[in-house]
Amino acid sequence: MNKKTLRDIDLKGKKVIMRVDFNVPVKEGVIKDDTRIKGALPSIKYVLEQGGSLVLMSHMGRPDEKGITADTTMKIVADYLSKLLEKPVKFVADCAAADAEVAAMKAGDIVMLENTRYHKEEQAKCKQKEGESDEDFKARKAALKEQQKELAKKLASYGDVFCNDAFGTAHRAHASTAVITKYISTSVAGFLMEKEIEYLGSAVENPVRPFVAILGGAKVSDKLAVVKNLLNKVDTLIIGGGMAYTFLKALGKKIGNSLCEEDQIEYAKEMMAKAKELGVKFLLPVDNVAADKFDPEANTQVVEEIPDGWMGLDIGPKTVALYSDAIKSAKTVVWNGPMGCFEMEKFNKGTFGVCEAVAQVKANGGISIIGGGDSVAAVNKSGQAPKMSHVSTGGGASLEFLEGKELPGVVSLNDK
Ligand code: AMP
Repeated sequence: MNKKTLRDIDLKGKKVIMRVDFNVPVKEGVIKDDTRIKGALPSIKYVLEQGGSLVLMSHMGRPDEKGITADTTMKIVADYLSKLLEKPVKFVADCAAADAEVAAMKAGDIVMLENTRYHKEEQAKCKQKEGESDEDFKARKAALKEQQKELAKKLASYGDVFCNDAFGTAHRAHASTAVITKYISTSVAGFLMEKEIEYLGSAVENPVRPFVAILGGAKVSDKLAVVKNLLNKVDTLIIGGGMAYTFLKALGKKIGNSLCEEDQIEYAKEMMAKAKELGVKFLLPVDNVAADKFDPEANTQVVEEIPDGWMGLDIGPKTVALYSDAIKSAKTVVWNGPMGCFEMEKFNKGTFGVCEAVAQVKANGGISIIGGGDSVAAVNKSGQAPKMSHVSTGGGASLEFLEGKELPGVVSLNDK
């Protein structure tokens, strides 16, 4: 990786302001999944071991859309982290008012700031309101951007060094993820961020071949840029899930009431033609589990083409075999999106079958990367996660990485 990490700098006596991804699910004050908190521990412990002190910051939930609730306060995480580390974590109830607590920090101390998104300028999201003139909108947007800079400056003032270990928000140019780097001389990656960039980066830029990408999930339109970018890199592109039916329709197959984005049919045709031109194997389902309704109790049948009145909710057994063969012979596999409606038992065999094949890649000496979102949930549910080389912590961020985009939270870090 060409970005500096915590390992590249002297941390003794330094105050480190670290952006972590503590956006954990909380219900009635209880943390339901602490994976993200545990994921940040190596960076946190390293700073403390090296004689530094830490100011931690993160967002949690969507206070900008859903308001501030008792389940979005970082106090819950601060208390949890304190138990994990067996040392005090000082909580500050406003991320932009921590001067006194930060000034009092000694080596080994930890301060945790309140949810950064309690300040709207963290994201500086700005949409034109109904009836608002273009001029007023522009002025409001510019004012919000100025406030964002002020917040970033304030956060930067808490540290000698900025460390970004929050890959999950690296695709956003927020005050605490990217803008802060303009106001602090040293900005480095944490270990979780380093791992994400190394896996996703080398998989996409320097893959050990054969390189197979598996894309699934509901919508083609969400993955347009990913398909386009990956076609130039992979040996085989496997498509499953709801998005496959737009491609099948483009080939003139019957898809019944399956998900289909009519406005993407031309695009699907173009992509398949491009694959042919590039010599990329483009695999689509050869059979499907069709249902008479979108329901866990639906009647089902395995069919090659979907009859009228039925919908394809999973790939069929022949397809699982076809995809598994391609996957098992790969040396690099990247997977984003389930093969069917795996949340319903009747339609989970495709996703779990593919999961098993992907789990064998690492055992065969290859690299398997699960690129965020629902495929991570599926891999966790199947119990195969420990057999994967890397399970990404960032859904949106890993998708943008696969699209070939530069992530603001990564580009803004210091080069080696
Ligand atoms: P995405 O967020 O685009 O990765 O889509 C994930 C969602 O796609 C999951 O909730 C799946 O249930 C859903 N999905 C997968 N396959 C299908 C399908 N054949 N028809 C409808 N929804 C699907």
